[in-house]
Amino acid sequence: MIERKTTRQIHVGPVAIGGGAPIAVQSMTNTLTSEVEATVAQIRRLEQAGCEIIRVAVPDQAAAESITAIREQITIPLIADIHFDSRLAVAAMEHGAQGVRINPGNLGGPDKLARVVAAATMHRVPIRVGVNSGSIEKDLLKQFGYPTPERPDALIESALGNVRLLEEQGFFDIKISIKSSDTLTTIAGYRQLAQRTEYPLHLGVTEAGGLIAGTVKSSVALGILLSEGIGDTFRISLTRDPVEEIRVGYELLRSLRIRERGPELISCPTCGRTRIDLFTLAEQVEQRLQTMESNLKVAVMGCVVNGPGEAREADIGIAGGHGVGIVFKKGEIYKKVPEADLLPVFLEELERLEAERKTK
Ligand code: SF4
Repeated sequence: MIERKTTRQIHVGPVAIGGGAPIAVQSMTNTLTSEVEATVAQIRRLEQAGCEIIRVAVPDQAAAESITAIREQITIPLIADIHFDSRLAVAAMEHGAQGVRINPGNLGGPDKLARVVAAATMHRVPIRVGVNSGSIEKDLLKQFGYPTPERPDALIESALGNVRLLEEQGFFDIKISIKSSDTLTTIAGYRQLAQRTEYPLHLGVTEAGGLIAGTVKSSVALGILLSEGIGDTFRISLTRDPVEEIRVGYELLRSLRIRERGPELISCPTCGRTRIDLFTLAEQVEQRLQTMESNLKVAVMGCVVNGPGEAREADIGIAGGHGVGIVFKKGEIYKKVPEADLLPVFLEELERLEAERKTK
């Protein structure tokens, strides 16, 4: 069992962050926010995949105004991502943003920050202080140097300095992120930050890369931090369809036994004993699993001799053979099926099991 660090609780719309709430999985749209139809379509796909909070970029007034129409058509809370412009932050909240991500220090002075804080207080909107390696103030870089795994101090001081600006205005509805594109700096930075604040922490590795590099970097950094009880919400950043970010996020939580969502696929890597096109078969099964909700363990294995035994923990599985395959349950052969019928017979059994689980 992972013992989670105690943090304050805030709410982004109805979703609790910190204070023992489930670790929330977030993503960010990559459509133009002002193109409402495309943005809503992407958010709906993300909702289906399990996204719990969505962030949208608000680079102009049109984007801020679109938030009203977007929110009417989605069910998860929406955060506005603002750079530099206090008027856009206020406009985003007036149009229904349930959170904003800003750097209080670069909004243009205390008066502008005061207007943002007043709007956030009135609309009960939390603020994420989002610092990254590229946004650190020059004086901090001079004092502490560019953040490294050995010395991530500039990131932490920048974040805490920005937090103080909000606190000085009497605002405490805060969460913090300190993102770096370097895995080890991310780990070292959040470890230190967690010791110095009780505000909830949003984890992430920024500019992590494509599906493979981004998944590995994020999983190493976030996996280590989450296993130490650090982190209350996160986004896996990938240069991909954001739906993949959600899938990777839930696999990460599942692998740490923190949260489970939907079935788990076990599949063998194939070897010289494989006599079927297992890659295609596994893809077809994986696609079907994405629309299922129960936490079944499902195996797709390359040979009938070793497959059922190697995937003994699976609730249901298939193994392919030479012209004939098997469906097995908990390691025991359940049915022998001609290879051509293997997938349809298996999917039928799978759906039956899913229905049984749902009615339990
Ligand atoms: Fe090879 Fe069979 Fe094991 Fe797959 S299940 S890796 S085909 S021995």
